[in-house]
Amino acid sequence: MLIGVPKEIKTNENRVALVPAGAEALVANGHRVIVETGAGDGSGFTDADYTAVGVEIAPDADAVWAAADMIMKVKEPIEPEWKRMRAGQTVFTYFHFAADERLTRAHLESGATCIAYETVELPTGELPLLTPMSEVAGRMAVQEGAKYLEKLYGGRGVLLGGVPGVPPAKVVILGGGIVGINAAKMAAGMGAKVVVLDVNLDRLRYLSDVMPANVQLIYSNRQNILEQISTADLVVGAVLIPGAKAPKLVRREDIKKMHPGAVIVDVAVDQGGCIETIHATTHENPTYVIDGVIHYGVANMPGGVPRTSTLALTNATLPYALQLANKGWRRALRENPALLKGLNAVDGRVTYPGVADAFGLEY
Ligand code: NAD
Repeated sequence: MLIGVPKEIKTNENRVALVPAGAEALVANGHRVIVETGAGDGSGFTDADYTAVGVEIAPDADAVWAAADMIMKVKEPIEPEWKRMRAGQTVFTYFHFAADERLTRAHLESGATCIAYETVELPTGELPLLTPMSEVAGRMAVQEGAKYLEKLYGGRGVLLGGVPGVPPAKVVILGGGIVGINAAKMAAGMGAKVVVLDVNLDRLRYLSDVMPANVQLIYSNRQNILEQISTADLVVGAVLIPGAKAPKLVRREDIKKMHPGAVIVDVAVDQGGCIETIHATTHENPTYVIDGVIHYGVANMPGGVPRTSTLALTNATLPYALQLANKGWRRALRENPALLKGLNAVDGRVTYPGVADAFGLEY
């Protein structure tokens, strides 16, 4: 099979869908790989790194799309890319169709076979191609929070770990899922006093088994949230209710009860956020202040660390890409129910219930 990797063209998207090690594995399995020139630059992989493992470099995106049986990307194809897709071509990437009707219809019109990273689902309900980005965002939430707690960035001038004789900062994490556990690990490792709140008692029990002694587990209800955030230096929003908007756990009036110069990093902002006062921001302009509290609402946090994010994402996608390439998409999906869940559209028809329901399309 011929696998094509175009350069990402969405603003500030520096990730790439395939690293040289992944390309090498596909070539070793008897496939041809074509990568658009410069596609790996943003993640620190040069054209020469790809050619060294047998990849052909294409001069532009058109050449990649025209040649490839399967396109691997990171972000959903955007308008300039729509005309390049065609029936019979497999596109394996993040699509997030249910959020965008024009995007969905453009893909249906193309007739391409669309396999979405975000809906590949293991029998346990885990989403293996979303997990790596939650891991990155959770860890980064603490790194960014620590930065904005510094006086220079407007914070209250508190060092997360404290020093001998001075107490550490208090980090409150709302939601103890993938984002939450990764944020907790980082904050605890830096010596902060960490509190994780969740509504899932089994999850709290698990966290209590694996977390160090400076992480306290508390049931998430309104009283407990108010009590915890009023003494917090850093609050991390990490809740998710699958398929729904995030619940507003911290209300506008609650912000006034927080310390001036405290920081909120609401990672759940991509689902509307769990802090009432949060709105989506960008890496160029990541924060704003309400009632003295710094709000950080970057909706694509992993984009800030593209090399780590690319490596984490491609570690997770490559095994599936190999199955698709080695078996062809029909057999690969028949033999792997997790990958079958990833099929969102084929031959102009929607094949994923959530996408069909979003726009009243036939399924
Ligand atoms: P997850 O499903 O692993 O964890 C969510 C947790 O929230 C669960 O443990 C659940 O029990 C808990 N929860 C639900 N309701 C709650 C409540 N009322 N109080 C406390 N906890 C509650 O999800 P995840 O992978 O950790 O993702 C969390 C959020 O981060 C999602 O919205 C995801 O889309 C987002 N995310 C954002 C970025 C970004 O760049 N901003 C990157 C990755 C993920």
